Amino acid sequence: MSGAGGTDAETGSGLSIFSKYDPLKQRASVLEKVGVDPFDMTFDDIMGPTRGRIGNREIILAGTNNYLGLTYDEAAREAAKDAIDRHGTGTTGSRIANGTYVEHEQLERDLAAHLGKPSCIVFTTGYVTNLAAMAGLAGPNDVIFIDADAHACIIDGTRLATNKTTVRFRHNDPENLDRRLSRQAITDGGHALVVIEGLYSMFGDIAPIAEFAEVCERHGAYLYVDEAHSYGVFGPTGCGIAEAQGCLDKIDFYSGTFSKSLASVGGFCASRHPEFELLRKVMRPYMFTASAAPANICAAQAALDAIKTRPELRHNITARAAQLHAGLAEMGFDLCAPASPVIAVRRPNEAQAAMEWNWLLKEGVYVNLAVPPGTPQSSCLLRISVSAAHTEEDVNAILSRFKALQDNSAEIMGEMMRRLQ
Ligand code: PMP
Repeated sequence: MSGAGGTDAETGSGLSIFSKYDPLKQRASVLEKVGVDPFDMTFDDIMGPTRGRIGNREIILAGTNNYLGLTYDEAAREAAKDAIDRHGTGTTGSRIANGTYVEHEQLERDLAAHLGKPSCIVFTTGYVTNLAAMAGLAGPNDVIFIDADAHACIIDGTRLATNKTTVRFRHNDPENLDRRLSRQAITDGGHALVVIEGLYSMFGDIAPIAEFAEVCERHGAYLYVDEAHSYGVFGPTGCGIAEAQGCLDKIDFYSGTFSKSLASVGGFCASRHPEFELLRKVMRPYMFTASAAPANICAAQAALDAIKTRPELRHNITARAAQLHAGLAEMGFDLCAPASPVIAVRRPNEAQAAMEWNWLLKEGVYVNLAVPPGTPQSSCLLRISVSAAHTEEDVNAILSRFKALQDNSAEIMGEMMRRLQ
């Protein structure tokens, strides 16, 4: 098999199976030179929703998706512990075999009721949710329309689906979707399935869902909205951006995750079409993977109760997001969107973004380094996410580190040039 230097003796091609990743190696070596591998870091401890530890350094967490800070909520922790005591650590089976417990079904009923939809299906992760529901919905004659900035799991949903055609429309542009729906021939009884997100996870910009719903209604297209980053965070009762824009009832399929405001692991898709239930018998990522563990389901159930009964969590996160956004804007940072719980600071290139990311971490603030291909417009970003658990002082501390970053930029850049030489 593969010999030294990436060659392959048996196939005689001279290249190993890993040779296609040579460009990746090349790119990683730039980050190596600046002394950072942001994709291979480990926290030695996590002490709460906004605090971690690396070595003996305490870190403010400002790059999680713990929007409501509920991972340490007393009720959620008790519910998870109790679930383990009553039902054990895992289901060891899929939803269609031995992996459906009364708690999975109760959570489905409660999410459906919260969203005002007759059907809701719970999946093992949010990623799997989009894969399963999109592939289950779109058959060979259907056409899927996706936003140009769609998340990886929406793109992968189009890959798993048997539809022949996928059309991309301009990001957050209902007029562009309108034109594409008009031009696209959909024949042989096929339908259009339009997939958008509520809050986009990289730039933190918000979709005009109500306008998209109007376009879809006019064309008889089905609208699928992924509110992974906005469920629990937006809307008077936490039902997301669709609720905030007054069009929740127009959404045909509403997907979300447990890994953000619901402080757990899992996903769900709710629908205004009762026939959605039929898909339980065809969705491969629902049928052929183990169901979410009891502790995850019960923690999500407790977090859902918090979403319904503690509107102050949404008030906190909105206030902290506004505070952070205003502070960074005042310092002159290039921000990708108006204030939201995701605040992306645009940097000029990957090496600089990586140096700055590392510098902030050493100064005790963890943000996300987000680089292509995971970002829109090939941007290099320091992505900050705000939590309802952040205090006003936490946000001031984050702001003071960004100010120091600015004040030390000549020195940081000098160091970067030395390392890259
Ligand atoms: N949808 C969007 C828009 C996401 O950003 C993510 C993950 N960040 C997911 C779905 C997948 O969620 P999960 O972590 O539950 O797999």
